[in-house]
Amino acid sequence: MAKIVAGIGSSHVPSIGPAYDAKRFEEPDWKPLFDGYKPVKRWLAEEARPDAIVFVYNDHGSDFALDRVPTFALGVCDEYQQADEGFGSRPLPVVTGDADLSWFIAKELIYDEFDITVCQEMKVDHGLMVPLPLLFSHQGGWPVAVIPLAVNVIQHPLPTARRCFRLGQAIRKAVEAYPGRRRVAIVGTGGMSHQLHGERFGHLNPEFDQHWLDLIENDPERLANMNHRDIMAAAGAEAVELIMWLVMRGAMTPKVRLVHRNYYAPMTTGMGLIAFQDA
Ligand code: FE
Repeated sequence: MAKIVAGIGSSHVPSIGPAYDAKRFEEPDWKPLFDGYKPVKRWLAEEARPDAIVFVYNDHGSDFALDRVPTFALGVCDEYQQADEGFGSRPLPVVTGDADLSWFIAKELIYDEFDITVCQEMKVDHGLMVPLPLLFSHQGGWPVAVIPLAVNVIQHPLPTARRCFRLGQAIRKAVEAYPGRRRVAIVGTGGMSHQLHGERFGHLNPEFDQHWLDLIENDPERLANMNHRDIMAAAGAEAVELIMWLVMRGAMTPKVRLVHRNYYAPMTTGMGLIAFQDA
């Protein structure tokens, strides 16, 4: 039987990628961000030890063009290439998948009335490629198989926060029904507060972000009741990506044990990290 061994919420700010590749880990601007991931990376490698990770992220128009945007899309491949976001590929190994577990989850979700798009070909962009190396070391390849789940947080109408939370609950059921042995982690990425266009360009709300981190741990139902407009008004239009953290939280037990939490907001985007274990 498979089981959920870790739940993680993480930002996926694109500028982290080049800073990571240039190894700017000790520079004052980046150190608080990179240091925040160290305990979680260690905990995943030494204690949680997942074989597979359900990676909830959004595609930023890199693989899904805006003429066809699936609300929820699950990859069922054995490997995933990086999407080219205009700067070529980053020096990272090809992402390995787990087609058997992916197909099983796809089938269970659809029979559970989540009509996801099933992708036998999928390229992954910074939504996935930024957090992945922050969470797992990759000398000689990734130590974990990735099951990408793309959520539309780009083109309205978006799925509701509640729908994302329920999807997480359905993913837990699917994982626990899998007949093979797997230790499965789930990560919800995106946010935190930011707005990258218009009059409120650069809008940051660290207070909202800290409150979100409190509630995702202790009262996720309250977050699941929020509507897009409230999140966007408080924390910036692109902060609506945070609904993807609720997929992760829905897959965990109602009470969780906090493993680690970090927050850093130097410029235009609140960068958060939180890691849980089932209580
Ligand atoms: Fe994003």
